Amino acid sequence: MTIVNPSPRFIKIWVKGQIFSLSLDFLEKCGNVFSINEKNSLIFPQTICAKLNIENKGYVMPKKVLPSESDFEKFGGDMEKYGFRMIEKPEFFRSFQRLGLSNPRKRSGREIGFTFSANGLTTIAWTTFLDTERCARDEDAGWVLISEGDRVKYFSHPLFRTAGFLNKLLKYAIIAKRRVLHRPLCPACNGFMQIVRGKGLKSRYWKCPKHRQVKDFDNGLTGKMKDFLESERKARRHYRENLKKQGRETTPAILTRRPWIATRPQNRI
Ligand SMILES: [Zn+2]
Repeated sequence: MTIVNPSPRFIKIWVKGQIFSLSLDFLEKCGNVFSINEKNSLIFPQTICAKLNIENKGYVMPKKVLPSESDFEKFGGDMEKYGFRMIEKPEFFRSFQRLGLSNPRKRSGREIGFTFSANGLTTIAWTTFLDTERCARDEDAGWVLISEGDRVKYFSHPLFRTAGFLNKLLKYAIIAKRRVLHRPLCPACNGFMQIVRGKGLKSRYWKCPKHRQVKDFDNGLTGKMKDFLESERKARRHYRENLKKQGRETTPAILTRRPWIATRPQNRI
């Protein structure tokens, strides 16, 4: 058992190839009955595992599997086949300089992203793969977003680098491309409808800025795409319910994500 990522409220530990996160409150209740090995990892006794009931319930967070360079190259080829292109260095640096971007997470390395634009909207898939280093960033998650100019209108859930990560990222990217390509027109004025927030944190729908016309955000997706999204929602619901049963809550990524800060917002388009 090895601690991999201490954070103020939770620590993540590996147990038999699975990652679990435990609250520090819980560990205090158990008594600080662990030792530190020569690799600076904390070792917990078997009694804590028994208390956690790990074998029976499992804290369902699958193991991190980082994509290799060849996995990534195959993914890049697939993305190009679907009409995406890699964001190039000069445009990355132009955005960076134009908006005076500063990253609160102080990360180094340029992450590779793929983009597709149509109908005034742009979708970007961020891969966590570093251009110069030719490997995935150690602590990170993939994202797919849709923006209008510099304003992000939609974020996918964070996509964790577990088995099948790039396959999932590809699916989310293709779905976002479909949303952009099939951006609905207002039935009243034929103008483009816009992506607006619904009541839930992650809920979005299409709305005409001039009329009271609205459309479901999944409008225009294929049946297969809707099925995929439904199975993803179901899995997330299941995951949250499991955590709740164990007396733990999840914080939506949207509340903990620390986005890039634009120090020159006047240059936004
Ligand atoms: Zn309208």
